Amino acid sequence: MNTNRAYRGRFAPSPTGPLHLGSLVSALASFLDARAHRGTWLVRIEDVDGPRTVPGAAEGILDTLRKFGMQPDEEPIWQSQREGAYQRAFDLLLSAGRVYPCGCTRREIADSLARSHAGHARHTTLAYPGTCRDGLHGRPPRAWRVRVPDGDAAVFTFEDRWQGKQTQDLATDVGDFVLKRADGEWAYQLAVVVDDADCGITHIVRGEDLLDSTARQIYLQQCLRVPTPAYLHVPVVENEHGEKLSKQTGATALDTAHPLAALTLAAKHLGLETSCVGSLETFFSDATMQWARRFGT
Ligand code: GLU
Repeated sequence: MNTNRAYRGRFAPSPTGPLHLGSLVSALASFLDARAHRGTWLVRIEDVDGPRTVPGAAEGILDTLRKFGMQPDEEPIWQSQREGAYQRAFDLLLSAGRVYPCGCTRREIADSLARSHAGHARHTTLAYPGTCRDGLHGRPPRAWRVRVPDGDAAVFTFEDRWQGKQTQDLATDVGDFVLKRADGEWAYQLAVVVDDADCGITHIVRGEDLLDSTARQIYLQQCLRVPTPAYLHVPVVENEHGEKLSKQTGATALDTAHPLAALTLAAKHLGLETSCVGSLETFFSDATMQWARRFGT
């Protein structure tokens, strides 16, 4: 088979529990997109968030992916082994004067937002108000934040391959955001940008819940002078209460004895019509063909 060296995609699960239908949808979509492009598909274990990482969950996810016929083309990447890369990126941003220490507690930020929104019931943005932009006001540093641009430069627009044109004003919707947390952990936003750049990721396919993070990530890519990949955000799977399916909202582990049943459900969620009888091979070739037709790859 001709492989397309230009395409590199990835699935980046957080090991907070076993793979469930919601995470399978993201895995399948990114896998099909890579296949449809004859590209390379990687798996990155996002275990940078120490407190949320469940021991053994990553191995379980990798094992389930294998049983479901989705084998990464290269060795999995583990965020917990990439501290040095995050520190180097952080130091670059620090020496460019883009990051600053913040002494605010969650409570102080919430109180300050409540004060500034008093009488403006409809104005409910949760953007960080920039309290520590010009100094810590005598308080100890807690988290480190990156300064977002002001005015027109804060408006980021990108074309999502599934959702269409997206626009977000980082100054009014988000504010200066955290790169290093008060507990000393690297924030997801920094780790994801550094990893995608270092792995040469050209196409990101993931759940719609991360659409809201994309402008932040594009901004960081620009600050670090690394390329911006193409984005595609798939609809998330919800439970009966309309909540995103996750371990916290009652997702159950997939039945690894019946991969085709779960894969067919995941494919259906993506608008693909596949059969749950037959082999994994037939499933993947049908699903890839439909995906390629739909996204014109
Ligand atoms: N680790 C994130 C999650 O499981 C996904 C990050 C990404 O795809 O950028 O929700």
